[in-house]
Amino acid sequence: MASIEMSNIVKKYGDGFPAVNDVSLDIADGEFMILVGPSGCGKSTLLRMIVGLEDITSGDMVIGGKRVNDKAPRDRNLSMVFQNYALYPHLSVFENIAFPLRLSKTPESEVRSKVNDAADVLELQEHLERKPANLSGGQRQRVAMGRAIVRDADAFLFDEPLSNLDAKLRGQMRTEIARLQRRLGITTVYVTHDQTEAMTLGDRVCVLRRGVIQQVASPRELYEQPTNMFVAGFIGSPPMNFLPARVQGSTLETPFGAIELDEKRAKAVGERDLVLVGVRPEYFEDASLIDESREGTRFTAKVDVTEWLGDSQYAYIPYDAPEEVAAKLKELSRELDSDQLRTQAIVSIDAASRIREGHDAEFWLDTRKIHVFDPESGENLTRDPEAGAELTRMAEEDRQDQIEQAQTSGATVSG
Ligand code: ATP
Repeated sequence: MASIEMSNIVKKYGDGFPAVNDVSLDIADGEFMILVGPSGCGKSTLLRMIVGLEDITSGDMVIGGKRVNDKAPRDRNLSMVFQNYALYPHLSVFENIAFPLRLSKTPESEVRSKVNDAADVLELQEHLERKPANLSGGQRQRVAMGRAIVRDADAFLFDEPLSNLDAKLRGQMRTEIARLQRRLGITTVYVTHDQTEAMTLGDRVCVLRRGVIQQVASPRELYEQPTNMFVAGFIGSPPMNFLPARVQGSTLETPFGAIELDEKRAKAVGERDLVLVGVRPEYFEDASLIDESREGTRFTAKVDVTEWLGDSQYAYIPYDAPEEVAAKLKELSRELDSDQLRTQAIVSIDAASRIREGHDAEFWLDTRKIHVFDPESGENLTRDPEAGAELTRMAEEDRQDQIEQAQTSGATVSG
């Protein structure tokens, strides 16, 4: 096992455009790090530079305390699992898993024992004699993982390993990968464009935009204390709502009524004219279900569409916005490939609510949970770095605890 340290990593392809731009990121020994961002943000390029499949234009890549910039992939001792699994069709499952051990001329008895251990962990025992063509997508994925874990690698690198699977199987495999990583306690870097995978798998998540790191934090910190509109819009589904607001002293005039800022937030917002107020869908509720005395603001708005989900429901509430705000949301929605960021709020309310499409309804908004963003730079003006750091510290404690539990209760895989 090893830590991975990247300092000022730059990758420029032929046309000089920096696909990865000045990335500095430290991944601790045993940590599960996610690289996430929309298509083209540079996450695969960064992973390929770690593994050695792509040259580094400038900066230092240090694995296990050694600079590896000039080392060939085979000399970096990393195991990579690709999106297309890259299995050998003419080899059995056993031989596919054994492949790296055969390459390193491992003695037969050791090959048998390592492949059998991996097959136990991945529940592939019954399929060892089959060929990949006769396996389901999830089984093929597990064979690819088996091949990665039999090696005594310093780290696992995953490049969108679940994107070829259907939604149900993706969920199952996600849980399996998380369990396996805890059990093996091996440093893992995992690339995905799926924010759900990022949130559920990572100890920490690195959000990239056009080759530049936006924020590196635990999933909770990203969700509750995003650094800018890009992160706030990318993490969470449906995404955070952004409401235009005129600033009048310490009051924000939004399409859903006035919000009074406390002293700290008012100071952070300062002398601006227009801001965007960020509110997650769950911080709204049907006002008739909220006690009158509860802090927050109430407003009446026309409901465009409702979606009933069983345990909750979404209501879509359009609002009027200045041209510049509509344009900003359009740009963000294009960048994040989301059709939900528009001049409408998507709110998540109790399943028992009787609001109806096409009718006015009274809503409540938890004003303590808002963020205020600069509409030009997208920066979160009211982010609380200390509260955020505390969330990431708690996640690190949980991780240590889980590793201890997994390693004392579960059998560890040899090799
Ligand atoms: P995706 O999720 O679509 O795979 P990504 O975030 O992994 O996207 P990369 O594949 O790392 O993105 O690409 C980052 C940028 O580098 C993109 O703008 C891409 O067009 C560019 N790029 C990638 N490979 C090359 C190449 N071989 N030559 C030139 N440009 C490239």
